[in-house]
Amino acid sequence: MIEVILKKGKEKAVLQRHPWLFSGAIERVKGKPANGDIVRLLNDKGAFMAYGFYNDQSRVALRLLEWDENAEINDDWFRKRVAQAVASRSNILDAKTNTCRLIFSEADYLPGLIVDKYADYLAVQVLTSGIENMMPVIIDELQKLLKPAGIFDKSDASSREHEGLETHNTVLAGNYPPEIVQVIENGISYGINIAEGQKSGFYCDQRDNRHITALHAKGKKMLDCFSYTGGFTLNALKNGAAFVTSVDSSALAIDTLKQNIGLNNLDVSKHTAIQSDVNKQLRALREQGEKFDIVVLDPPKYAPSRSALDKASRAYKDLNRLGMLLLESGGLLATFSCSGAMDIDTFKQVLAWAALDAGREVQFIYQFCQPEDHPVRASFPEGEYLKGLLCRVY
Ligand code: SAH
Repeated sequence: MIEVILKKGKEKAVLQRHPWLFSGAIERVKGKPANGDIVRLLNDKGAFMAYGFYNDQSRVALRLLEWDENAEINDDWFRKRVAQAVASRSNILDAKTNTCRLIFSEADYLPGLIVDKYADYLAVQVLTSGIENMMPVIIDELQKLLKPAGIFDKSDASSREHEGLETHNTVLAGNYPPEIVQVIENGISYGINIAEGQKSGFYCDQRDNRHITALHAKGKKMLDCFSYTGGFTLNALKNGAAFVTSVDSSALAIDTLKQNIGLNNLDVSKHTAIQSDVNKQLRALREQGEKFDIVVLDPPKYAPSRSALDKASRAYKDLNRLGMLLLESGGLLATFSCSGAMDIDTFKQVLAWAALDAGREVQFIYQFCQPEDHPVRASFPEGEYLKGLLCRVY
């Protein structure tokens, strides 16, 4: 196995089991590993530190897998991690929920592998060359454990380019999924377009947060901004909301949302969907003098990196200010950030700033986080990305 030598003084993060090693921490590589090869990482004195996937095209030159020198990083090693991740989701999957994330990359000890379950189908994203090499074994193990009708490769993420990988959108095993795969989450049905939909097709990371928000929706008038295919909208209507307005810029998302209303036999007269830019629509609703009891703000990632945080904070502030201004006194704002670079304390500051600008009083009454199928590994805080606050606004 090829050896990679660490620079002097760069051991700390490796010893703390952080799974990323940046190229700048490498002193030299003995030999010529191919991208995706498994290599041995040694410190400057030649002592073993970890095994990891090598890739000289990525800023993260090594994705560390194992810190036990005696472990063999063979097919069984990967099969075991796949099985462990799948088993840990058994709490989530039941008669009322047949969709969730089965494997969440570094957090499940498989750096660069994401697997989402949509009823009988699996959608896979392969984001590192190391995982790409192991896919035959991983697919075989997933088939053994789950017997899916089909496994679809949804690896059209831009991060693949950082690893020098081409983008994919193909079937890896079994059948090509039908255009719409019907899933159920917390007793609510959704049509998922795996091939055309955003990310791998559905934002299952908001499962618990949609449910919790809807507990407050009975008899209320709600505005669901960045609704996608209706996660918050459908939960609220199912829980007896008086009226829900959903806003999203994607025509496909709005179309699917309307179909989802029908799929759940919900009352169409209690719902309207607007295809529009949220910032524009919030201003328009304000000019029309509209007010709501609940406003949901679940925008896409505004801060892709730490360097974008200042600009993103201003965007989050403006968005939340507009949301607050549309609330009745005593109304609820359910507001989210899926930017890993924005931590919960910074997000609270942004909301305090938005409240001042809006001239409103805000209480934080509940803190949202990512659900158990998106675990945060103690040694990998970067995996924590989704946070939110339920705010009472006076
Ligand atoms: N709340 C959703 C997930 C939201 S994902 C759920 O529970 O499933 C973010 C959504 O924001 C996407 O559907 C995307 O189409 C939409 N979006 C992105 N930018 C937008 C904008 N400027 N105005 C309106 N919608 C936008």
